[in-house]
Amino acid sequence: MRTIIEPFRVKVVEPIRMTTREQREQIIRDAEFNLFRIHADDVLIDLLTDSGTGAMSSLQWAGVMRGDESYAGARSWFALEAAVRKLSGFPHILPTHQGRASERILFELIGGPNRVVPNNSHFDTTRANVEHSGAAAIDLLIPEGRDPRSRHPFKGNMDVAALERLITDVGGERIPAVFVTITNNSGGGQPVSLENLRAVRRVCDKHGLPMFLDACRFAENAYFIQQREPGQRERSVREIAREIFDMADGATISAKKDGLVNIGGLLLLRSDALAQRADELLILTEGFLTYGGLAGRDLEAMAQGFEEVVDEDYLRYRVRSVEYVGERLLAAGVQIVEPPGGHAVYIDAAAFCPHIPPEQYPGQALVVGLYRQAGIRACEIGSVMFGGAGKRPPMELVRLAIPRRVYTQSHMDYVVEAVTELFAMRGELRGLEIVSEPAALRHFTARFREV
Ligand SMILES: *Cc1c(COP(=O)(O)O)cnc(C)c1O
Repeated sequence: MRTIIEPFRVKVVEPIRMTTREQREQIIRDAEFNLFRIHADDVLIDLLTDSGTGAMSSLQWAGVMRGDESYAGARSWFALEAAVRKLSGFPHILPTHQGRASERILFELIGGPNRVVPNNSHFDTTRANVEHSGAAAIDLLIPEGRDPRSRHPFKGNMDVAALERLITDVGGERIPAVFVTITNNSGGGQPVSLENLRAVRRVCDKHGLPMFLDACRFAENAYFIQQREPGQRERSVREIAREIFDMADGATISAKKDGLVNIGGLLLLRSDALAQRADELLILTEGFLTYGGLAGRDLEAMAQGFEEVVDEDYLRYRVRSVEYVGERLLAAGVQIVEPPGGHAVYIDAAAFCPHIPPEQYPGQALVVGLYRQAGIRACEIGSVMFGGAGKRPPMELVRLAIPRRVYTQSHMDYVVEAVTELFAMRGELRGLEIVSEPAALRHFTARFREV
């Protein structure tokens, strides 16, 4: 098989600054060993997140210039509405500035004390918005989804039997919606199968419950379905995505992922009554119905992004470029969450540094080591992010999130080489202790010291 190449050429370049190991040593010390505290200019390859960090196409940049900045009824809004309607078929399309704004509006309407919201896995902002409304957020992932070595093709699937049990236990009247996150970001970027989505829909129909999607990575998920699910090979990604949207009563979307833009979001609704109330909240806190907290140029770029993201040459390259990093790391003996996800590779930090106990943050030791070694910024997803107050997450992970259309294969080769070198000298990685931390979301601002 030939190399799957980037299906684009480069028109604008953005220099990245080379640093020496000595400089990085000083930078990481000054930042008190927290990668969120360093300047992005001091990072060589930034794999902190895939959210809003992608590169726009020439047509998207042309759209930025075409953007209509009228307060109401802007042409750019109608372009976005048409693109999203073609993709999803939803009757009510609300623009928001990002995914969590859609979540805040929705859960203000359907959440509240004594309510329960099931999901395969809540993303952290989704959980926070559910809980902020007073409702409980429950994760019902299949057991394979929590096993880093399981090669199940759809590790993002919801445990449908557990969903049935939850409905019986708490009563359907307390469940305002059943959520499914595609792909499952908190669970390694793993996809959900069409079969599983249909099964969730059947359970929802049986109990008269609405089904909602957290559809940030709907295109990557649809591509995995096309590639992995029996009988789906001949269908287009657009067709599969449309079937998924047709099943749902609503969706929250951060366009910073599969919208291929740097800022933007959507709330999609089927119910006229719910949409009317959501429109009122949108105007109250985001903006008028035809811009929702965004500039006209942002709407125009989003309209084009939602066209480009279902291009199958793009998706083949996208999924392959992440898989390539995962395969090479596995070949070098580095344990990752298998198989690689759609947007990121997750390194098993506990296996990488067995000499560092969880209370000395093996994931943080690894991200610090990777920055020192090669100027790469990755994200700890383990005891720093989810620990504290006696809590222990099930896994100690380091996420290498791959921005869309930004880095080339040689950048990724460099990343693989750096991780492999670090693996050879992993005995030198040192654990850390927290010097100071805020009350909540401590990973963003905590300060550390090496043990
Ligand atoms: C990013 C993300 C969100 C939140 O979107 P923002 O644009 O960051 O507010 C919600 N759910 C999932 C699965 C995400 O990946």
